[in-house]
Amino acid sequence: MSSSEGIRHLMVVGAGQMGAGIAQVALQSDLSVTLVDLSRELLDKAVQRIGAGLLKLQEKGKLDEAKRKGAVERLKVSASIAAVKEVDFAIEAVTENESLKKQIFKELDLAVRQGGVLATNTSSIPVTRIGAATRRPDAVIGMHFMNPVPLMSLVEIIRGAATSDASYSATRALAERMGKTTVLSRDFPGFIVNRILIPMLNEACFAVMEGLGSIQDIDTAMKLGTNQPMGPLQLADFIGLDTVLYIAEVLHQGLGDDKYRPCPLLKQYVDAGWLGKKTGRGFYTY
Ligand code: NAD
Repeated sequence: MSSSEGIRHLMVVGAGQMGAGIAQVALQSDLSVTLVDLSRELLDKAVQRIGAGLLKLQEKGKLDEAKRKGAVERLKVSASIAAVKEVDFAIEAVTENESLKKQIFKELDLAVRQGGVLATNTSSIPVTRIGAATRRPDAVIGMHFMNPVPLMSLVEIIRGAATSDASYSATRALAERMGKTTVLSRDFPGFIVNRILIPMLNEACFAVMEGLGSIQDIDTAMKLGTNQPMGPLQLADFIGLDTVLYIAEVLHQGLGDDKYRPCPLLKQYVDAGWLGKKTGRGFYTY
């Protein structure tokens, strides 16, 4: 499969923030989508979110009425992976937990047709390890969307040690059909974006801890001095300080180099429950 033409039916497992966004963009690209999550209630919520997202696009004149209705009709839901038939391509976006993801991939191995692709949206778990939990590691690949999926144009594609050329071509073709620009990363901790972004955010935390400048001055310096849309401390608050710390630990452990050691102040904020925007307090108050 080197084009996305052979891909008609996409299964998205996990209907949270990322899964719902991925499903919405796939529907806009004329794919049939089955969304899978643990309960009817969670699925209903995701369907509502996707419907609202599509309606917003129509109101902005970016999607006509017929296309929006078609997209809504092509969305199906299921509370079981095994119940979904004739799947060409699966994207897993469940909670970031390795044993859970391995279990899901064992199920996907049985559900996706031969020649299909099993992709994971993981931010930090080695794709190679997830692939090894299946009988077809050549079909397993990382497809790392950015949040919020409908707005962010990048998809990092991660080739595991065993990922085949055919799986890579199909994944790239699908991402492009979804209007995304792709980059290819080897399967090492953090992939490309987090490998470079998280050490910068962590360094900004060290700068606060050492009193290098005030929180506002550190953010203003990076915002205006390096032309970024927001400063590193504000961005860390938006991502969630627990998530930043978690990925910093993945880099530290996975690469085994102390240059990635998480900042003690970042750890302390997480211990205090100051996780950023989502808890109302991080480096800033919300
Ligand atoms: P989320 O908590 O919003 O959604 C996870 C969903 O998975 C939930 O709806 C949950 O009910 C569902 N789920 C859990 N166990 C399941 C199971 N056994 N079967 C089916 N569904 C199950 O999380 P999210 O932010 O959407 O993240 C999902 C994945 O995407 C994670 O791997 C995360 O690392 C990755 N990711 C997140 C972001 C981000 O900014 N949020 C960005 C890139 C990648």
